[in-house]
Parts: sequence; C-alpha cells; structure tokens
Amino acid sequence: MTPYERIDRAVDEASDALRRLSLEIHSHPELNFEEHHAHSVLTEYLDEQGFEVVRGAYTMPTAFKAVAGNGGPTVAVLSEYDALPGIGHACGHNLIAIAGIGAGVGLRAGLEGVEGTVVILGSPAEEGGAGKQILIEQGAFEGVAAALMAHPSPADSATPKVQALQSLRVEYFGRNAHAAAMPWNGVNALDALVAGYNAVSMLRQQIKPTDRVHGIFTDAGVKPNIIPDYTAADYYVRSATMAELDELKPKVQAALESGGMAAGCRVEFTWVGRAYTDLVSNDPLAGRYCAHMEELGLPVGKIPWFGASTDMGNVSYVLPTIHPMFGIPCDPMNANHTAPFTQAAATEEAHERTVRVAKAMARAAYDVITQPELLAAVKQDFLANVPNPGDPLR
Ligand SMILES: [Zn+2]
Ligand SMILES: [Zn+2]
Repeated sequence: MTPYERIDRAVDEASDALRRLSLEIHSHPELNFEEHHAHSVLTEYLDEQGFEVVRGAYTMPTAFKAVAGNGGPTVAVLSEYDALPGIGHACGHNLIAIAGIGAGVGLRAGLEGVEGTVVILGSPAEEGGAGKQILIEQGAFEGVAAALMAHPSPADSATPKVQALQSLRVEYFGRNAHAAAMPWNGVNALDALVAGYNAVSMLRQQIKPTDRVHGIFTDAGVKPNIIPDYTAADYYVRSATMAELDELKPKVQAALESGGMAAGCRVEFTWVGRAYTDLVSNDPLAGRYCAHMEELGLPVGKIPWFGASTDMGNVSYVLPTIHPMFGIPCDPMNANHTAPFTQAAATEEAHERTVRVAKAMARAAYDVITQPELLAAVKQDFLANVPNPGDPLR
C-alpha cells in the first residue's frame, strides 16, 4: 500500500466518527473563546486515537495541541470550531474542525515508517478573537515547517485573497439638553455620529476597490426628547494588505473626527483587539494541494476570492501557509454568515467534500515532509513573499 493509499484509508475509516463530531459541534454552537464542548469532544477523540494531546494549550482554555510521529520535519494542520451569534455554524467551522482532525489522522497513517511529525492545532476564536495571533505569540508555530487549513465556502479557491482587518470603536461625547425646551444648550452626539458615518460614506469614493469600511451604531441616544450626550459605533476597516490598511486607518479616523468637529463633540478612538493580516498563500504548497484534489476528483480553481478576513493570514506571515476555500453545495446567494449556509454545513454532501479535502491536505503535508526539494521550494516561495517573517503585529 502506498503512503497516499494509507492516508486515504485512514481518513475513510475515520469518516463516520468525523461526521458525528461535526454534527455534535454543529448542534452546540459556541462563540469566541467559549468553545468548551467542541474542545472537549475533539480532544477526547484525538486522545482515543493515540495522539499526545495538550488541552487548554497556549494560555487558551479552548485551544489544544495534538501530536503524533517522530522527528523529521513538522507540519501543522489547523482546526477551528467557533460559531456566530444567532446563526450558529454559519461559517461552517464544524467542517474546518474535522478537516483538520481528518488531515492529522491521515497524515499520521501516511508517515508510518518515515521520519516526520504532525501537529493538530485546535484554534479558538477565528470570528473576531484572532485566536491564531495568540497561538503565534505563545510559540505554537516554532519549529513547524508549514501550516494547512481549509475553509468551506460556496466555491473553490486554492489561494484566496483575503483582507487585512482591524476593528475600530468610535465614541462621541456631547452634552444633554431638553430637545424642545433648550436644544441650544445641548451638544448633540448623535449629530456627530451621523455626520461621521456620512463622511466615511463620502470617503468610499476615494478608496481602493479592495478596501472595505463598514460599521454599525451601538449607542445612538435614549429618548427623542433628550439631546444625546453619548453615542458610539463599531467599524471594521479592511484592505488588501497590512501596508494598505495602515494607509486607510488614518483616513477613516479623519472622516469620523470631522463628525465630532461639526457637532462640537469630543471624539475617542479605540483600535480594538488584534489585527488580522492579509493571507500570503504558499504557491508550491497550494500546487500540491490542487494536484491531490484533482486526483481525488475535485479539481480546484485558482480564482481569487475577495471580501473576508481570517486570522490564518497572521499565520501566513510566520511560516509557509495555505488556507484554500472549498466549495460545499449551497445557494451562492446565501454564502457564509447566513442561516442557509448553517444548514449547508450540516449536509452529507458537505461532509463528503470535507473528507476529500482532509485527504488532499494530508497528502500535501506528506509531500512537504518527505520531499526535501519541495520543502526547499516552499521555504523559498515563503521568503520571496514574506521578506521579514515573524509575528506580524510585533
Ligand atoms: Zn466567518
Ligand atoms: Zn470562517
């Protein structure tokens, strides 16, 4: 039996158990950093499978590390398992969870009799918590040659372009007044909020097609007869690269500041949490993944896919990384982050696609571990595209 056959057989044998894990996670959606049930069922399974499991790894109670193999190059495969508020697993992270586990189980079988190590990283809080940035800060990728993860979507893309992202909170401070009796005594923080929002809308004509600025009002006053003394909004600011994001951020701030100036309000800005970088996909590694997907009967396009962000981008600044999007049967009008996509992520067809993706990731990882010339090409491509590798936010 060839190593690829061993990989495929191991993933096929695990498929029923993976299906149960996927549905278990899907029916217990948990938010950022609260994925205790998913963490518990996934680590229990990996324990049973004989992996060396560390629960609550890297300072995060819902992160884990599972290791198998010995010596040689180490490759990491990643699982995500967080859900979205209100619409559950609308990003299909239950499938990402089992794609990572399946790839790890397959790769271990492929590596029998070969020097090489597989690390499965359980990565919390992709939806806004930048869990992988914490993995980076805690050293999870030290000594790792490459990292692989795959994400469900309506269409396939081996090397999707995703945006760098940072969240911005803006607050306006004014002064209350009776809105009919003495409005001239008020300083209207709602006017500041609206004027700032409109200034951002005007800015949109002058930003790049790959930039995105979108926000919601979180605090907009309490009663029509009180001039609001406090308002606030949350914005996401995104660009094609970290460098372009750094250019866009002060423009957005200036637009929002103008609203405060117009209404006479003090303005406070908070850049919230850790930034998400753009994704630098490793071409030789993506090439191996595509070749294996084709062999497995699911040819992958290289069409770029824009308009989202992932903390796997941060990982791609640290070591050679791929994060292909894989299509699952769904209505393309109801893609990720919609309730119909939640249903699509639970279907048998989506599971079958995920199993094949797990095999292709395991095979590509096996190639990197066992083919020194491929490993060299992977490293070279990484260094050519990430000139200063390391923690992108340091
Ligand atoms: Zn998502
Ligand atoms: Zn997602």
